[in-house]
Amino acid sequence: MHDSTMHIRHALHDAGFEPLRHERVSVYVHVPFCRTRCHYCAFYLETGYPPRVLNETLEGMVAESAFWHEALGAPAVDTLYIGGGTPSAIPAERLESFLEALSGTFRTVDGLREATIEVNPESVNPALVSVLNASIIDRISMGVQSLHDNELAVLGRRSNRATALRALEYLRHHFKGRLSVDVIVGTPGQTVKSLKQDLHELLESGIEHVSLYGLTVEEDTVLHQQIVDGRLSMPTQDAHEDLWDAASTTIQGAGLESYEVSNYAFPGQESVHNAAYWNLNPYLGIGPGAVGMVYARTGDGERGCVPLRLTGEDVFRYQQWKHGQYRPAIEVLSLTDHLFEHFMNGLRTRSGVNLSLLHRRFGVPAQHLLDILQDRWCEFSKLQCYDDRQGNRYISLPLESRMILDRLLPDLWNLLEVALPELTLNCIEPGGY
Ligand code: SF4
Repeated sequence: MHDSTMHIRHALHDAGFEPLRHERVSVYVHVPFCRTRCHYCAFYLETGYPPRVLNETLEGMVAESAFWHEALGAPAVDTLYIGGGTPSAIPAERLESFLEALSGTFRTVDGLREATIEVNPESVNPALVSVLNASIIDRISMGVQSLHDNELAVLGRRSNRATALRALEYLRHHFKGRLSVDVIVGTPGQTVKSLKQDLHELLESGIEHVSLYGLTVEEDTVLHQQIVDGRLSMPTQDAHEDLWDAASTTIQGAGLESYEVSNYAFPGQESVHNAAYWNLNPYLGIGPGAVGMVYARTGDGERGCVPLRLTGEDVFRYQQWKHGQYRPAIEVLSLTDHLFEHFMNGLRTRSGVNLSLLHRRFGVPAQHLLDILQDRWCEFSKLQCYDDRQGNRYISLPLESRMILDRLLPDLWNLLEVALPELTLNCIEPGGY
């Protein structure tokens, strides 16, 4: 093991935890660097960084990955997602060595089901695509956001319509993997007509997957200031819903299916990585600001097995890798929060929440809770209960009702709080974590 990673083990040990052996994990790698900050973006990231900081951060990520590979008992990596930030802004030769180092660390050649990288249109060039084609990456998620220059200017994106169309064209002809695009709904100045035009053009370009994001105004952003100053105004709730409905109808009209509130894909082209979050599967968050969730035993044995949320510190603390000073923040997730999160995410998806999986993971007392939920929620005409071919029981919301989820969640939260004292987490379920 890399010596500089021992302090993570010490941090876990000092907090009283020993990571469980995991049979498989998903991995999210956060590259928190962008050339400039978009007007709506409140993510943790750095701009104006020197190359040394980028290099040392990437070295730290490889060391952190090696630590977790060893600490979790060399799990198989199911899916890899490299996001940010702008990972595609890493110079091509450095990206090549970084991807090689990561795949060597995780031994991801066999069994990897999907490896995605986020790319911005302005970063697409032959050198980047040739590096990606020669690597484990088999899927690109491109942040197009809009094909209208006035909307892109409001969003403060570095790309414009021409750059995005050129990038799509190049990827379609030269990238060997699958292609997804992100589109923002609700940009000031966006109309149903402009949004439908964008989607038609994007769908004609041969993409397999679309993610829609509703624009939100976060504090401490340029967009927020412009709204406060009265220079821009956001669409009303009704206008936003009209935009969303128009987008959803247009995408489905092209043959893509809604498999989650914000995600659409041709059958078989759904993102595998996202499903890991929705199904409570463990995932590593590698890099500054990255969030991961793994299962651990408590040293005293009193709390048995617990889900831990680990959050990476900022780039400058992350630089302390080499001196053995860096420690991620460790938080024990309450089982109520853990279950609640699962329902919140699962009910946004087409397949819904796998109640049988929850029975296995949370032990016999949870059966009672789940029986109540099943009885109570399936009484609502909008909720569906069904069994899959393996006999797993699911609870799900039909497409047109997924938007009512917010109204059901308080009811769920109350039920979970009542059942909390009875819940336990099975450390080992058949097949392992
Ligand atoms: S490219 Fe993405 S991560 Fe970077 S500033 Fe823009 S929205 Fe934020």
